[in-house]
Amino acid sequence: MTQYIAHMASLSLIALLTACGSEKSTVSDHQDGNRFFNTPPVNVGFWSVLKWNFTRKKHPWPDSVPVDTVVPPLSVASGMRATWVGHATVLVQTPGNNLLVDPVWSKRIGPWSWAGPKRYSRPAVEFQDLPRIDAVLVSHDHYDHCDMPTLERLAKERSRLGIAPLGTADLLKKAGFEKVVALDWWESTQLPSGDTVTLVPAYHHGLRWPWDRNTRLWGGFVVKTAAGVVYYPGDTGDGPHFDQIGARIGPIDLALMPIGAYLPRWFMHPQHIGPSEAISAAKRVGAKVSMAVHWGAFRLADDGFREAPDSLKALLARDPAAPDFRVVDMGQSVELSNVPDVVVGDSLTANARELAVAR
Ligand code: ZN
Ligand code: ZN
Repeated sequence: MTQYIAHMASLSLIALLTACGSEKSTVSDHQDGNRFFNTPPVNVGFWSVLKWNFTRKKHPWPDSVPVDTVVPPLSVASGMRATWVGHATVLVQTPGNNLLVDPVWSKRIGPWSWAGPKRYSRPAVEFQDLPRIDAVLVSHDHYDHCDMPTLERLAKERSRLGIAPLGTADLLKKAGFEKVVALDWWESTQLPSGDTVTLVPAYHHGLRWPWDRNTRLWGGFVVKTAAGVVYYPGDTGDGPHFDQIGARIGPIDLALMPIGAYLPRWFMHPQHIGPSEAISAAKRVGAKVSMAVHWGAFRLADDGFREAPDSLKALLARDPAAPDFRVVDMGQSVELSNVPDVVVGDSLTANARELAVAR
C-alpha cells in the first residue's frame, strides 16, 4: 500500500501531464527549455508503472530493523571518514569539511508526514548529535533524497550552505539555507574549505508532484578534497556517464555507491543500478574503495531487506577482479587514512550560480 501511495504521483502524472512551465529556459543536451532529460529517455511511464503495480513480487522485510546509533566526531584532523546514517544519507568528514549527503531524518518520505513509504530503520545518528555541517548536498528532488523537514532543520540549526542541481536547488532555498548553489552537470563550486564540489551526470529523473516531472535536474557529486576524492552517484541507472566520470575525474578514492531498490530489473534498471552494475560502476570510475548505500531503510522496490548487499557480496566473492567494495551497517564508517596526490581547487568549470536568497 505504501508503495502504491509512493507511486500515486507517477500514476496520476501521466494522465495529467501537460507542458507546465518551468522558470528554466536554457536549452542543452539534457534540457529542452522546460524540462530536463536523459538520452535515451528514462522510461518510467504510465503503462510500465501500472504493469509493475499489478505484477509485483515483494521479497520480505522485517517489521523493523534495530540500529545502534553513533555519535560522529565534531571534525577529523586527517584522512577521510564516511559514516552511513541510513538509506542514501552519509556524513563525509575530511579536514575542514563536514558534508552531509541526501539527508533524511523523517519517519516517512513523501509530500506529507503521514503518507509515503515508512522508515524500517531509524537514522544511525541522532539529529542532535550531528556536528556543524559545512555543506548539505542534495542529488535530486525525490522524497527519499530531498526531505524538506530535514532540510529545514539543517538550515536552521546546522548549516548555512546547500548545494543541489538546477531546479532542485530552489527547494533548498525554500528550506531556508542562507546560501544555495545550483549546479548544472559538470559545473563546480568551492566549499568554504576551498575544496571543490562538482555535479556530474546521472541517468534518472525528477518528480515530486504529478505536474513537475523533470522540471528539476538530478545528478551525482564529486567532492575533491586534500584528503581524497569522494564520488556519490545519487540515484542512477547504468550508462556511459560512469565511463565519462572515470575519464574526466577518476580515479576516485571513495565511492558511496547505491545498490538497492533494484528489483524487478525490467522496471528498475533505467533508474537504479543494482549490485552487479554497482560493481561495474566502481571499476569504471576507478574507485579505490566503495561503500554500499541506498538500501535497508525504505522499501521502495521489490528487493528484500538484505537482498542487495547479500547479492553484492556473492558477486564480489566470485569476481577475480573484485574491487574493494564494503558493506557496512548503518552507523558504521569507512575511514581512509591515505592522503593521495589531489590537486585541490582544479574545478572543471567555475560558473556555478549562487541563488539569491531572500531572508
Ligand atoms: Zn530517485
Ligand atoms: Zn532513491
